[in-house]
Amino acid sequence: MEYSPKKIQEVFNQNDFHLKKKFGQNFIIDENIINNIVDKSEINKDTLVIEIGPGAGSLTYKLAKQAKQVLCYEIDTTLKEILDHNLKDCPNVNIVFQDFLQANVHQELQKYSYNSLFVVANLPYYITTPIITKIIEEEIPVDKIVVMVQKEVGNRLKATPGTKDYNSLTVYLNCYFSIRKLMDVSRNVFIPKPNVDSIIVEFTRKKEPISVKNTQLFFQLIRDSFSQKRKNLRNNLKNYPLEPIEQVLQKYGLDLNVRAESLSLEIFLEIANSLEDSL
Ligand code: SAM
Repeated sequence: MEYSPKKIQEVFNQNDFHLKKKFGQNFIIDENIINNIVDKSEINKDTLVIEIGPGAGSLTYKLAKQAKQVLCYEIDTTLKEILDHNLKDCPNVNIVFQDFLQANVHQELQKYSYNSLFVVANLPYYITTPIITKIIEEEIPVDKIVVMVQKEVGNRLKATPGTKDYNSLTVYLNCYFSIRKLMDVSRNVFIPKPNVDSIIVEFTRKKEPISVKNTQLFFQLIRDSFSQKRKNLRNNLKNYPLEPIEQVLQKYGLDLNVRAESLSLEIFLEIANSLEDSL
């Protein structure tokens, strides 16, 4: 495959393909970035990679060379000819032309055998959060996620307590994954050039997942605590028994006037467990 912008444009013209903004189509045109994503992912020949949105197949091609198999989900069926052409010597790539958000991934995964499962993708920015949420909520058994996302969204995903970017999804993600930024990516490496820069973020599954007495209650507590970001716990949790919450907060020198964004995962866990005990 050739990665020059000129070559990619030529392939688009030959196939009468037009980039679609509604599908978040910003294609990578810099081979170094692609190599970086693949190298940093540490894929091996026992890894099954799920790629969401292969586009013209630039990243897919390199993933296929490193991985056992690559399972792609692509919503835009007009990319089929380009993908068939660009990936013709990659027999270990399977492309499902479907909206990833609607896909039954568990069913598809039954067709594969693998030792580790990674998600590696340059995500369509308009649905970054729903994609990550789907992976978590549907308990897709991924060991690692390496994704390129809009810088602002990436900062929210890897935010720490006490910062303005910290939110319910961050807490949710931290239950299962260690999260870190791998690198910054300039907007100049895409066609068309987006209005914002990107970052590559890595999520590695924690060996010891959270231990909570009632998972449902725990996630509901997180959602409710962040429901109105500017309000404190007393307001956001007014329908909860406040006494057990207060007792936990006191241990940390806090009270109900605190906002959710200041609380660590451990404090949320302790509150959820004490609520469960008080039921
Ligand atoms: N991987 C390619 C690259 O890096 O050059 C393309 C990345 S582009 C940012 C996002 C890709 O996701 C596009 O190919 C787009 O058509 C696809 N896409 C958008 N929404 C999707 C969805 N709901 N399910 C699957 N693919 C989707």
